[in-house]
Amino acid sequence: MSTPEDVRAEVKQWLADNWDPELSLLEWRRKLVDSGWSTPTWPAEWYGRGLPGWADPIVHEEFSAVGAVGPAVGGGMGLAAPTLLAHGSDDLKRRLLPRAITGEDTWCQLFSEPTNGSDLAGLATHAERDGDEWVVNGQKLWSTSAHHADLGLLLARTDPDVPKHRGISYFVLPMHQPGVEVRPVHQMNEHSSFNEVFMSDARVPADNLVGSPGDGWRIAMTTLAFERQFATVRARSTTKATGRAAEEAAAEAEEYYKTYAWYPQRAGRADLVQQVAELQGRTNDPIARQQMAGLVALRRAHEWTARRAQAARAAGRAPGSEGSLGKLAASRVAQASSRTHSLLAGADGQLSHGDSLLDGVITEVLLSVPAQSIAGGTDEIQHNIIGEKVLDLPREPSVDRDIPYREIRR
Ligand SMILES: Cc1cc2nc3c(=O)[nH]c(=O)nc-3n(C[C@H](O)[C@H](O)[C@H](O)COP(=O)(O)OP(=O)(O)OC[C@H]3O[C@@H](n4cnc5c(N)ncnc54)[C@H](O)[C@@H]3O)c2cc1C
Repeated sequence: MSTPEDVRAEVKQWLADNWDPELSLLEWRRKLVDSGWSTPTWPAEWYGRGLPGWADPIVHEEFSAVGAVGPAVGGGMGLAAPTLLAHGSDDLKRRLLPRAITGEDTWCQLFSEPTNGSDLAGLATHAERDGDEWVVNGQKLWSTSAHHADLGLLLARTDPDVPKHRGISYFVLPMHQPGVEVRPVHQMNEHSSFNEVFMSDARVPADNLVGSPGDGWRIAMTTLAFERQFATVRARSTTKATGRAAEEAAAEAEEYYKTYAWYPQRAGRADLVQQVAELQGRTNDPIARQQMAGLVALRRAHEWTARRAQAARAAGRAPGSEGSLGKLAASRVAQASSRTHSLLAGADGQLSHGDSLLDGVITEVLLSVPAQSIAGGTDEIQHNIIGEKVLDLPREPSVDRDIPYREIRR
């Protein structure tokens, strides 16, 4: 059994022998795939080293110390890889996990539909088997990053004759094909990070089914649990890095983060509250001070919840209810921050661009914060999860849970 000291010594030595900043990003990441050092907690037979959760921060520190680049950022590593590790066939893991680490494939999540977000199990997109393929028809909505994704994590109904949770299957959909049309949605904060995705006789190879037909709901729960934690997944630091691999990684990250440029504003930008109070001459205003102090307290409490979740992951526990608590806390902080910014900014918060406070950032906060309480499952749904799974309260009443999907009135 390796100790933390052994792991530190081993990764240090491996980096000394292998890290070469002049390799291309792909060449370097292929070394990561072969060595298992980019994903040390994954099983040794699947591109990891089978180490416990405590190894991850140690390896991260050693990578940062020499400025070595880590695996690709994004939904491939954050959502697809953990789902495939838990439920994918050996063939899927062999084909797709290395490419998630190298960033050769980028991913999106095709779960929500125009009338099925919270009621995800009621989804209408359907897939029918046709020889070695499945043929998919339907529409998804809110699909973040679908406009530049190579692959989609797709939920589709494959059996309408059983109750809604039991007739869903989970697929890996190739996005670049004639049957898939992606249309960006223009948001009220002027960004465009999510899309409508229309599937018209789109084709999925039969080997791209994850798990068994009808097993999609259980597998989707794995993806959603990781999604609630996704915000805390760290990208390997490349700040010290120079050379070809680092430059290519920086360019990759810049492109990737364009989609998420407004996400810090969505989280409320509590870090700017003091500055805005000073700019507006409100630091001595007792109402503003009280609200700012309340925000600081809320943020601290949220940080401790997030650290408990990180400690649980480091101890090797699968993501659990702390994900819902953390997500809800993040919403509360964002809303409290937005209210405080609104109080401090007054009418200035309604201006945009150059005329407004901090070059439009505060206006963007006010327009973006509502998304924090929706994305990844709304606040009300987190309340339901906490009530049912943590507090063991009775299940929410449902009239359509046990009847065949086909008989549900819509
Ligand atoms: C920024 C952003 C990014 C997103 N990215 C993705 C993505 O990449 N892929 C993807 O698949 N989806 C994505 N989503 C979609 C997101 O998961 C859904 O918007 C969310 O689950 C809510 O579904 P809905 O929009 O259909 O709202 P609805 O489900 O229609 O909810 C409307 C209102 O009713 C409430 N409500 C619904 N059911 C209940 C209930 N049972 N009890 C109490 N209240 C209830 C809700 O809380 C909400 O206030 C994203 C959303 C946002 C905002």
